[in-house]
Amino acid sequence: MRGVAEQLCDGIGEALYLQNLSSHNLAVCAHNAVARAYQNRGVYRGRSCAVFEAAGEALMQAGELRLLGVGEIEVGEQAPNAYGCAAQQPLFDAAEPPHETRREAAGNAVGQQEVHILLLHNLHYGGAHGHGINSLLQEVKLLPAQLLTMASYASGGAIAVGAWLTKVKPRLELSRAKYRSLSGHAKMARRIARLIPFYDFSDAAFFSCDGAPPEIAARRQAGFMALSALYQQRFAKTRAETREAAEHISDLQFTGAYRVPFQFSRFVREHLSAGSFLSASSGVTVGDVDGNVLYDLTGSYGVNLFGYDFYKACIDRGAERVRDLGPVLGAYHPSVAYNVARLCAISGLDEVSFHMSGTEAVMQAVRLARYHTGRPKLVRFCGAYHGWWGEVQPGIGNPTTARDTYTLAEMSERTLGVLRRRRDIACVLVNPLQALHPNAAAPADSALVDSSRQGGFDRAGYTAWLKQLRQVCDENGIVLIFDEVFVGFRLAKGGAREYFGVQPDMITYGKSLGGGLPVGVLCGRHAQMKRYRDDRPVDVCFARGTFNAHPYVMGAMCEFLHRLEEPDVQALYQDLDALWERRAADFNAQLDATGVPVRVAHLSSIWTVCYTSPSRYNWMLQYYLRAEGLALSWVGTGRIIFSLNYTEADFAAVAERFVTACQKMQQDGWWWAKGTTTNKSIKRQVLKEMLRARMMGLVGRLQT
Ligand code: PMP
Repeated sequence: MRGVAEQLCDGIGEALYLQNLSSHNLAVCAHNAVARAYQNRGVYRGRSCAVFEAAGEALMQAGELRLLGVGEIEVGEQAPNAYGCAAQQPLFDAAEPPHETRREAAGNAVGQQEVHILLLHNLHYGGAHGHGINSLLQEVKLLPAQLLTMASYASGGAIAVGAWLTKVKPRLELSRAKYRSLSGHAKMARRIARLIPFYDFSDAAFFSCDGAPPEIAARRQAGFMALSALYQQRFAKTRAETREAAEHISDLQFTGAYRVPFQFSRFVREHLSAGSFLSASSGVTVGDVDGNVLYDLTGSYGVNLFGYDFYKACIDRGAERVRDLGPVLGAYHPSVAYNVARLCAISGLDEVSFHMSGTEAVMQAVRLARYHTGRPKLVRFCGAYHGWWGEVQPGIGNPTTARDTYTLAEMSERTLGVLRRRRDIACVLVNPLQALHPNAAAPADSALVDSSRQGGFDRAGYTAWLKQLRQVCDENGIVLIFDEVFVGFRLAKGGAREYFGVQPDMITYGKSLGGGLPVGVLCGRHAQMKRYRDDRPVDVCFARGTFNAHPYVMGAMCEFLHRLEEPDVQALYQDLDALWERRAADFNAQLDATGVPVRVAHLSSIWTVCYTSPSRYNWMLQYYLRAEGLALSWVGTGRIIFSLNYTEADFAAVAERFVTACQKMQQDGWWWAKGTTTNKSIKRQVLKEMLRARMMGLVGRLQT
C-alpha cells in the first residue's frame, strides 16, 4: 500500500505536468497553480507526515485526476528524513488566519512531527475513495453534498472534530473567498517567490527561446541591434549619467532590473537602456538631457492630470501664497482652512488629516478603523495596490507576514459572505483603479511572460459591486475606505465617490491633489477620525508626521483646488468618459487595421496594453515605443496614463507613433509563434525552465 503522502505527491505532480520528471522534490507555480511537495521515501503511513501546501486551479483539479478530491491542503511540516531523524525546521508557517490556532495534536504526533492536514473533497466526484485513505483520514461532512472535510492525525488516533469545525468553517469560507491566483494567496506567493531560481538566456537563446527558427531569430537579432545602435546614439548622455548614478541609487538599480521579465533583463540592460534623466517638461511632452523630446505617457504615476504646466503654476503660485511663513511646521498656514473646506465638500465627509504620501494616508485610515471598531483585520482585494506599507502589501515585496490582512477576491459573492459573517473585520480597502482589471496585480511588463494580461472596465458591474459592498459594510459595522490616491480627481471632479455614486466612510487622496508636491490626505466622518476617547483619556490613536501640512504643499494644494473650480478645468471633465471611449476605440481600430496583435483597454484616461496572440516577447514593445518618441514609466506598456490636456492633434500623433512601433516590432519577427503556442504552453515552458534551473542547481544561463 502506498502512503497517502506519496499518492498526493503523485497527484500534485500530475496536476502540474511533472509526472515525467524523475523526482517531485519540488513542484512549483504555474500562474494559477502552486504546489509544493516533498517526496520522501521515508514518509509512510503511521510513521511520518507529508509536506504539502497547495492552492489554486490545478490543485482543485488534482482530485479529478485520480486520487483524493484535493481542494486545499494546508500546513505541513518537514518530514523526518529517510532515517527517521526529525526535520529541524517547519517548512511552512501555519496557514492564515494566524490567530486561529489549530487544535493541539492529541498525542498523535508522528515520529517527532505533527501532522495537520485539511483536505476538501468534492462529493460530486466519485464519493469516498479507497486507496487505504479512510484508515488514515476520517471524513466529516461539512457542507451538504459539496464539501467533505477530512481531518486526521497520521497515526490514526481519535479525532475530536466537533469543536474544531467551528473554526474550520469560517476558515474554509475565508479560504474560498480568495481569488484563485498567486496574488490571491499572498503568503504562498511569497514562499513560491523564494523558490524561483534565477536563470537567464544566453545571447543566442535570447532570440529563440520560443523555438523560433534561425531566420526569425536572425531577424529579431538584427532588429534588436539596430534599436540598440539607435539608443546608443540618441540617448548617449542620459545613458552615461544613469549608468554612473545607478551605482549609488537603489531605486534605479531596482527599476532598471525589473522593466522586463528577469530571464531577458541582463541582455536588455546591456543593449537597450535608455537612461532615467529628464531635464524639461512642457505641454504633453518631456525632454531628456540629450535634448530629445518625447510624448509623456507616464502621467508621473498618475499625478499629472492637467498637464505639467498646470502643476508648475500651482507650485509657483502656491509658493507665493506661503512665502512669508516659509517652512514653519506645526502651526498651519491659513490656506489650510480653504483646503479643508474644499476637501470636505469633495469627499462628502466631515474631517481631514494631512500626510506626506498616499501610503501614510492609507496607514492612518486603517489605524483609525481598527481603533474605533476594536477589530484587527483589514480586507484588501486581490491585486490592489495601496502603497508599500506592509499590511497592505502582504505578498511578494514584503519580507514579513501581514498577520492582520485578508486578501479576498473582488467582485465575489463569497467575499460578501465573509464580510457578512466574520466579526473580526475592521475595514475594507477599495482601490477603484482595479475596476480596469479586477483581481489582477498592477500590470507591469516585468510580469509579461505571455499574453494573458487582460483589461476591461464594466462601469455598471463595478458600480453594483461597490453598492453591495456598501450595504454589507453597513450591516456588519465595517469601515468602507475608498483609496482614491490614484483615481481621485481623474474619473470625475468629485472622484470615484461621485463617479460610482457610492459614499464610503473614509477616502484617501494623494498624487494630483498636492498640485505637484508630495501629499497624502485622509477624509472621514467625525466619529471615525477622532483620535481619542472622551471616557478613556489615555487610550488614544496616535498619528503625527513632521512634514504633515507643510506650508508649501498646502499652498500648491490650495492652488490646485482653486483651479479645479475654474471654467477651463471644469470643461475638461465634460464628456470625459465619451472622449476617452472614442479615443480608445479609434486607437484599437488603427491597431486592428494594421494587423498587429495589440489592443488597449482603458478606464477613462488610464490605459493598459493587451496582447492578442501568445508571445514571450511582448515586453519588447516598450523599446520600440521609446524609439518612436513615446516615454513610458518603468512598468512599460502595462500602464499608460494620459493627462487631460492631450489635444486631438497630440493624441493623433501618439496613436500614429504607437502603431508605427507595433509594425516595426512585427516586421522584426518578435510576434512569430508556432501554431501550437498558447499562453498556457508558454507558462508551462517557463515552469520547466525554472525547474531545470532549480534541479540542476543552476544559477546561470540557459542555452535553449
Ligand atoms: N494608494 C494607491 C491607490 C496608489 O495608487 C498609491 C501610489 N501609486 C498609493 C496608495 C501610495 O501612494 P504614495 O506612493 O504617495 O505613497
